[in-house]
Amino acid sequence: MAALMIPANTLAAKRRMRVRSSASRKDHAIVKEFREGCAAPLPVLRRVAEGIAADMRKGLNSDGGHSLPMIPTFVNTLPSGNEEGLFYALDLGGTNFRVLRVQLGGKDGRVIDTEFEQVAIPQDLMFGTSEELFDFIASRLGTFVQKESGKFHLPSGRLREIGFTFSFPVKQTSIDSGILIKWTKGFAVSGTVNDTVGTLAGARYWDDDAMVAVILGTGTNACYVERMDCIPKLQGHLPANGDMIINTEWGAFHDSLPLTEFDKALDAASINPGEQILEKTISGMYLGEVARRVFLKMAESGAMFGGSAPDKLSTPFVLRTPHLCAMQQDQSSDLKLVGKILSDTLGVDDSSLGIREMAIDICDAIVKRGGRLAGAGIVGILQKMDADSKGTIFRKRTVVAMDGGLYENYPHYRKYIKEAVIGLLGSEISKNVVIEHSKDGSGIGAALLAAANSKYAREF
Ligand code: ADP
Ligand code: MG
Repeated sequence: MAALMIPANTLAAKRRMRVRSSASRKDHAIVKEFREGCAAPLPVLRRVAEGIAADMRKGLNSDGGHSLPMIPTFVNTLPSGNEEGLFYALDLGGTNFRVLRVQLGGKDGRVIDTEFEQVAIPQDLMFGTSEELFDFIASRLGTFVQKESGKFHLPSGRLREIGFTFSFPVKQTSIDSGILIKWTKGFAVSGTVNDTVGTLAGARYWDDDAMVAVILGTGTNACYVERMDCIPKLQGHLPANGDMIINTEWGAFHDSLPLTEFDKALDAASINPGEQILEKTISGMYLGEVARRVFLKMAESGAMFGGSAPDKLSTPFVLRTPHLCAMQQDQSSDLKLVGKILSDTLGVDDSSLGIREMAIDICDAIVKRGGRLAGAGIVGILQKMDADSKGTIFRKRTVVAMDGGLYENYPHYRKYIKEAVIGLLGSEISKNVVIEHSKDGSGIGAALLAAANSKYAREF
């Protein structure tokens, strides 16, 4: 009951009063129960933040058996802005790969020019051998390098250096070697491993205070700067001083999350049941699908959609996150766009205003939970870092670099992240935490990492 009590002067409240007259009691009960199940009030967020901090420690202590893999990236040098010269990056993501070059001009010149080419990976290579795939990539890279001209030139006596963004789970063995753990995506799912590291590198190039990077796109992941002496599982192998970027793979977190029957059903029907639970709750791939499942239940058990579900409504993943975003941004008095999306995408024609308003409530519940949990995750990482560095994170300015299509395009989601962070940290401390969209995409980040780790670094 309490979850429905909101200030009477809000638009949502006015809408809800009208909803009561048009949708069935059963539909209301489903939405109410769903909203309550999704609720992520501060005590829940605190438990999530503490849980993430605790699981980070476990994952840093030893490999295997913990929710967070905490993968050492062997990246210990981030860009400073002083880098100079020509650097390349290769970004192998889902179905495309990008080759990119950047000419860096040091502190004053910064990014003089960049150029990239995107190449689709032929279908047959996705199912072929890795030799064939890498031969193809190498040959396309070769062609791209030959077209180097204009502002791009290699300082004499240097070899070209390249950074590689590889969005698949890799067990790195050093900064320039690693073992592929498994092919994911259509090669099959998301596993945005190194793009977080690229994002952090891109942010640090411009801002010395960048310490954490978070990707909120199709999937989600986070990485941060860890102290070597806080990574027991690496001790004995590497010097105990200095820092290393740790890839948390935080999408795997699963404790204390407010999950509903719809989330559980989504997970059970997924290709990786029981895995990536935080990712399934907060990332772009899944938000629309959770909403679709709620609508479907209303159609099947309520009077709402005339008692039977249209085929489209029964099709997994037809409703996408951009649809939720568009519905929430509909400012028209009759929610025309919401009606159009319900009709075009879900096959629900002639929806009443009451139904459209309920649709927005459902979207909001999902997005609010997603944004707030992402905020709690960020706070968990920062609290862990702060505790281990005797307060240096919260006492000075700390930047959290954000990237990914969900973060970029969904204003409500961003607002909920911010509210959660302020709620958890308080208004004073949260002034020191700057959560901002990273200026450079992960692609250029990889080139910047190549530059920061260049064997010619002494010349910068
Ligand atoms: P990836 O994680 O595959 O690299 P992106 O970072 O480009 O992908 O993010 C793509 C995701 O961003 C989509 O799956 C979708 O969930 C979300 N997204 C894209 N456009 C919008 C939009 N207009 N509104 C809300 N979410 C969006
Ligand atoms: Mg991406």
